[in-house]
Amino acid sequence: MTPDTRWPTGSVIYWFRHDLRLHDNPSLQRAIAVARQHRVPLQPVFVHDPGQLSDTPWGFMRQSPYRQAWWRMALDDLSSQLSTLGSCLMECEGEPGATLAALAASSQAQGIWCEAVAAPEEQDVERRIRQAGVSLHTHWQSSLLESADLPFAPEQVPDVFTAFRQGVEQAGVREASVAPTVTALPPAWPPTTRLEETLSACRHPPTASSVPIDRRTSFPWHTPACHGGERAALRHLQAYCANKLPHTYKATRNALSDQRASSKWSPWLATGALSAREAMHTLRAFEAEHGANDGSYWLWFELLWRDHFRFLHHKFGQQLYRARGLLKGRVVTPHDPVAFRRWCLGQTGHALIDAGMRELAATGLISNRLRQIVASYLIHDLACDWRAGAAWFESQLIDYDVYSNQGNWLYISGRGTDPRGGRRFNPDKQAQDHDPDGRYRQRWAQP
Ligand SMILES: Cc1cc2nc3c(=O)[nH]c(=O)nc-3n(C[C@H](O)[C@H](O)[C@H](O)COP(=O)(O)OP(=O)(O)OC[C@H]3O[C@@H](n4cnc5c(N)ncnc54)[C@H](O)[C@@H]3O)c2cc1C
Repeated sequence: MTPDTRWPTGSVIYWFRHDLRLHDNPSLQRAIAVARQHRVPLQPVFVHDPGQLSDTPWGFMRQSPYRQAWWRMALDDLSSQLSTLGSCLMECEGEPGATLAALAASSQAQGIWCEAVAAPEEQDVERRIRQAGVSLHTHWQSSLLESADLPFAPEQVPDVFTAFRQGVEQAGVREASVAPTVTALPPAWPPTTRLEETLSACRHPPTASSVPIDRRTSFPWHTPACHGGERAALRHLQAYCANKLPHTYKATRNALSDQRASSKWSPWLATGALSAREAMHTLRAFEAEHGANDGSYWLWFELLWRDHFRFLHHKFGQQLYRARGLLKGRVVTPHDPVAFRRWCLGQTGHALIDAGMRELAATGLISNRLRQIVASYLIHDLACDWRAGAAWFESQLIDYDVYSNQGNWLYISGRGTDPRGGRRFNPDKQAQDHDPDGRYRQRWAQP
């Protein structure tokens, strides 16, 4: 592509990935500093990958309309906040590597800045951008803890969570500090650059913007309180603490379905509309005011699980995506496509499993306990390939997070880092323990 003289030379591109926010975004802060130093525009960009709307090898769309709609809300909120600051979010559609490389070349940008993502597919995109000769500056920021603060080298992060947590706690490592919220931005490219002519890949993507949310949901994301954007995320975090819910977290977190039982931070953490460090920082302020207890401690504990799955990606990378996961030697992976389909549709004949799968399909979210139960059922009772289940969750969950999803599925399958070699949850016992009066199964008895 020939450079176009209508573009301001040497500008900075900021590529938003899973960090759709202005608070605690050190990577964006770096891009702003460079643009200011060189007195050049900073263009915020988001790339919609059409590959996300294609079918998986398992026969369903990679990103359900629910997940698309959740991301749409986060993008709309980001776009509106950027406009208020005199900037403008450019949304492009195309394979991200080629699209960004073409955008950087045609606009004569000095480089692209973005957060680092440690999953193999995302790393391939980064590689493609660099191979095109574009200067790409990534910054790791999605974990609670700073990698450099860990008491282990990246390749020596303990495989077992308890050893990881104890190592962190014994070394006194705490969450990284929160970067100041962006309140001013360098100007974006002038609108006269006429993107459509310069770069044919730039046009608005055909993503779902609204979906029917079943009113039986425990996460009413069709209401303003649960809007997908950063501003609603921060309000939700404040309200969660103002209602003193951290204190009851440990006692309630295993509920099958209850709006107040767990934090519900994950949908916003997934798009990056909320940073884990901001959540922890707010939780520390809550503890300083109202006192810490095992409930508030357990939220830190769970966020450490989230971090552990991230750091395991740094250590094992592509190995986490093999059918055999981290197991050595030849491992048989059975699969039954008919049983898998019945599981997806909530038609296995087991009332609790079917209720969970129906809730997932109708709302884009289920509780952690239900995820464990239905995942275990697919792997250990229906003898299906764990990767098919992980792909279904990826498609359906509005809080889909590559590290946590991959890590948890591997853990339950016994091919990851579970020291007990995998978890089978007895679905009848789980129903007895967590739904003794059958209310949850009754609520989702119909699709
Ligand atoms: C098979 C399976 C697949 C999963 N896929 C995902 C996924 O794609 N995205 C995702 O965010 N979580 C995933 N989880 C983890 C967990 O179920 C969700 O993080 C949790 O249900 C989110 O609800 P919450 O925000 O109310 O969590 P809370 O219970 O309030 O926990 C607070 C935060 O801690 C973190 N957390 C809690 N439990 C876990 C865990 N087991 N693993 C990693 N982090 C955890 C999350 O960031 C969560 O928001 C999966 C779990 C299983 C068993």
